[in-house]
This record gives sequence, C-alpha cells and structure tokens, in this order.
Amino acid sequence: MTPTPKQVLREVFGYDAFRGPQAAIVEHVCAGGSALVLMPTGGGKSLCYQIPALCRSGTAVVVSPLIALMQDQVGALRQAGVRAAALHSAESADAASTTWRELQAGQLDLLYVSPERLLNGDLIERLADLPLALFAIDEAHCVSQWGHDFRPEYLQLAVLAERFAAIPRIALTATADPRTRAEIVARLGLEQAATFIDSFDRPNIRYLLRDKTEPRRQLLDFVANQQGHSGIVYARSRKRVEEFASTLKAAGHDALPYHAGLSPERRSAALERFRLGSGVVVVATIAFGMGIDKPDVRFVAHVDLPKSLEAYYQETGRAGRDGLPAIAWMVHGSGDVPPLRRFIDDSDADPAQKRIEHGRLNALIGFAEASSCRRRILLRYLGEADGSDCGNCDVCLEPNQGTDVTEPARKALSAVYRTGGRFGAAHLVDVLLGGDTARIRSLGHDQLGVHGIGKELDRGQWRSLFRQLSARGYLVAAADGHGGLQFGDDALVRPLLRGETRLDMRLPSAAKDRRGAAGGGGAGAGPAAGADTVDPGLLAALKAWRLEQARQQGLPPYVVFHDRTLIAIAERRPTALDELAGITGIGTAKLASYGEAVLAVVGSQTAPA
Ligand code: ADP
Ligand code: ZN
Repeated sequence: MTPTPKQVLREVFGYDAFRGPQAAIVEHVCAGGSALVLMPTGGGKSLCYQIPALCRSGTAVVVSPLIALMQDQVGALRQAGVRAAALHSAESADAASTTWRELQAGQLDLLYVSPERLLNGDLIERLADLPLALFAIDEAHCVSQWGHDFRPEYLQLAVLAERFAAIPRIALTATADPRTRAEIVARLGLEQAATFIDSFDRPNIRYLLRDKTEPRRQLLDFVANQQGHSGIVYARSRKRVEEFASTLKAAGHDALPYHAGLSPERRSAALERFRLGSGVVVVATIAFGMGIDKPDVRFVAHVDLPKSLEAYYQETGRAGRDGLPAIAWMVHGSGDVPPLRRFIDDSDADPAQKRIEHGRLNALIGFAEASSCRRRILLRYLGEADGSDCGNCDVCLEPNQGTDVTEPARKALSAVYRTGGRFGAAHLVDVLLGGDTARIRSLGHDQLGVHGIGKELDRGQWRSLFRQLSARGYLVAAADGHGGLQFGDDALVRPLLRGETRLDMRLPSAAKDRRGAAGGGGAGAGPAAGADTVDPGLLAALKAWRLEQARQQGLPPYVVFHDRTLIAIAERRPTALDELAGITGIGTAKLASYGEAVLAVVGSQTAPA
C-alpha cells in the first residue's frame, strides 16, 4: 500500500501541514503531472518532489547543480530514513558502484545527480530501463542564459522531455522574473506543465536599513547583538572583505573571509566551517551564496550596496530559510553609488543592457532611500500585488522622519506629463531646475510652464525624489526600454495631482549643507531568533548534544534536527517517546535513532523553578 502524501509528511519528515502551494504541487505530481514551481528561498521546494518520490513507485532522479547541496540533501534524507544516494564527481568509485547496484535493485527512492553525470556517459540509457518515479530539476534557472547562474549543461536537459515523455518532470527555482520563467519552460519542454507560483514575501525577514556613517563600528554593534548566531556579511571588494573579517575577528567573533581571490582549498574550508558549525560569520563578496542551503543563517548584513534590487533580494534571502526570525541589515550612503555606476559603464554589455542595469540599480537606490514600508516596495518590484505595511522593517518599526514632499512630487509628475512621458529622470530634473542646455532648447522644453519651477530642491534631492516615486509606483519606466518615465498607478497619481493626498519622503540633505548625518542606532536589531518561553539552559544542552551527533557523523547540525525542533523540545520538555513524536521535524526514523538520547538530555536538565 502506498502511503498518502499527508502520511509521508508526518511519518517521514515529522511535519503536520503542507505550506503554501506544496499540497497542490504534491498532488499534481503524484498524479503524474509535470510542474514548474516558483517559490522563494526557504519556501519548501524540496518536499515538492521528495514526497511524490516516496508516493510514486520507482526511483526519482533529482538533477542538482552543486555537490554540497546534494550531499546535504542526501544526508538529511537518510537521517529521515529515506533511501537516497548521489552520483557526482566527488563520490568515490566504490560509493558509485554501491549506488549503482542499489539503483538497479530498485532500492533507491531518490537518486541525486549532477547534470554532467546525467548527460555524459550512458546513465540516460541505463535509466531508460528502470522504473522511474519522476525527474526533478532543481535550481532550474541555471538553464537561463540571462541569469547569473547559467550552466550550459542544463540546456541539454531538454533531452528528458524527449526520452522520457511519460515520466513527470518538475522544475524548481527561486527566481521569479518572467523572462527566466519563459526560458525554463521553453528549454525544458514544459509547455504542458502546470505552473505553481508562491508569494515571494519572506515575512520572517526583518529589513533594517541604516545610513552609512562608520560602517566598521556599525557592523560591530550590529553583530554584537546577534548572540553568536550564524550570519553572512557582504562587502563590495576582496579588500573590504578582508578588512571587515579582521575587524570582526579582532572583536572576538568567529569570522572568516570568502572571495574569489582565495585558493580553492581555503574557500571550501570556509564553506565547510560555515555549513558544519554554528555561530560562524562569513564575510564575502557575492561569490558566496548559491548552493548554501543552511537553514539557520540568522542575519545577512550588507556593508556596501549590492548591484540591484534583485541581487539584494537573493542575497538577503539566504537568511532565515527555516522560517524563524532573521534580519537583513544594510548600511548605505551616497558614496556607494558611483563605483556601481562605473562598474556598469565599464562593462562590455551593449547600451540597451547597460540601461537595464542602471534601471535595476535605480530601483535599489529608490528602495534604500524610501521612507515607506520596505517590504511593499520589494514585493511590488517582484510583481506582487500591493499589500499593507509589513510592521517588520525599519520604516514600519521606527518613527518616520519623512518630510512633506507633496508639492515637489506634483511638480515632478507635471514635468513627466508636459514632456510627453518620454524622458528619464536626468532630463526631467534639468527641466525642473531651469537648465539651459542645447538639448532643452532644441526640444523646446525651455518654453514649458514646468521649466525652472523646481529650485527648492537641488539635483541630488530631485533624483532621489524621482527614484522614490518610481519605487512607490507613481512612476514606471516606459515599456520600450529607453528609460523614459511615465505615470504609474492611476489610483496613486490622480489623488496626488488633485491635491487630495499628502506624500512624505526622506530626501538627502541639500548638497551645500551635507556633512555626514549622525544616526543609525540599533533599534529593532536585537537578537534574531530568541524564544522567550524556552529554558536557555536546556536549549543550550540540546544544541551541544546535536553538535556532538553531527560531528560524529560528519554532518551539518541542522541535518540532525533543526533549531525549530530543538526549541519545540525545550518548550515542551517531553518525558516520553510518544510526546516527542508529535514535535515538528521528528519523523519515525529520527524518533527511533535519537528519541531516547533526547529524553535523556531533557531529563538531565532540571526545569527552572
Ligand atoms: P527551498 O529549497 O525552497 O529553499 P527547503 O526545501 O530547503 O526550501 O525548505 C526550507 C525549510 O523549510 C527546510 O528546513 C524544510 O525542512 C522546512 N519545511 C519545508 N516544508 C515544510 C512544512 N510543510 N512544514 C514545516 N517545515 C517545512
Ligand atoms: Zn514594512
């Protein structure tokens, strides 16, 4: 008798309920359907194919681009009593032949393979003779030539649709943008597949942005508040990575640098320490990121602005995959922008591509400067309908110091309207400031009523205002890609033009009296994942026990039990196995292997009075 998805969820993985679209996806794939799954990092993509793998007969083949990811997944599945193995270049010949024997004997529920391993040699031929449950293609955006993670081998996965037409295929990614999505569908032959899109909101992540004053001091203060949790700090250059890592180390934190200039050995040692340890802080360039599945990263800090709002979302998304509270913290200042602009201008991309990159950077600057809810801006940018203020970002949590910019905003909208919605912010600001350039004269823009009506703000303030109007949806870039600004949402624009609403914003101080404002305290930046109802002594004892288990087996601690599970144990203080069995993350196999030991740890710690 094959178990139902719900039973597998409880008995194997120890979870009580599916999350978001998981139930629908699992049902669809169990019934033999193919699927494209778009879910944010931490959304729970793995269960979407792991459960059908266990409910359907035959072996599920999972294509994954990174060896570390495969190792963690296989380790975690085996802990849960699932018959899983991996074939990739880091496996010994012995291990590979064992895997191969098990596969042919029908003893594997899941086989993880690298794309190279699947496509080179005769693996495909040999799989064709075996009963297969499904193909899962993880990190499916690697097939996209536009994306930053393009893997040429992924293109050849098109062969799966041809050779295995009757086997369901499920492609999964955390990259949401429509172009990437269309590329995945076309290249993997998923035209007939159902698409499942989860919200890309990460409600457990608290976004905290600060003006950059003394980044070193600010970072130290922030990290000092993180109670020794694991985190990632992103900096712009190798040099800055080294400097910030030394600063943290000197202050007693377990911090390491990570960048492309280090030897491969040092990089993989850093990665291993981060994965296996708890409380390690990695200071990295963007080279560090993909393939890190660590669920208990409690904070991601940016000491420099990333290159786009997409990059910011991806990088901050590495915090809090386990759903527990996490912090995305960033210091930013106007000095961050010129190097990023130069980087785009100096690249050998064509002019159209450069315009797109500048636009993406502008979106990020608009986000950073905004005085309205960060999450709303981020989600609007990701194409999700507007919700309400989140209550979990600096703007929502801390008193707003915006000023009334209703009048300048109306002038900006008039300038857009009077010039026909065809010009970018640079030109519009020129017009508002009464510029007398050849371009303005030849366009006749010196004859417009809006020419020279904006002298109350300086150029930098106007640029900020335009970016924020874009970030909030009052203005949008014209669809032709030339960077012209047009009116955005009618429901926003009209009341503002009619003078029915007031608009507050934080603008940079005027250039003439800019000195480096103070500010940027630590409100709201306290411990990320505390659990008030938990006995800290017991939780510490459970963590120490877990670390020892993980060490003995050469696994990351979270593969034994997630923090969430340890917190639940410390809260409930179970005294018998059946009490333990109801706790999240404890399935049948883990109960059998660790149940008694966990009860012993609980018993050894007397409850606080
Ligand atoms: P993704 O691959 O989408 O980033 P994962 O599959 O790694 O996410 O899942 C993220 C975390 O959420 C994992 O720790 C996983 O065990 C947990 N998780 C997934 N689905 C559920 C669920 N239905 N109930 C509880 N925890 C879940
Ligand atoms: Zn908010």
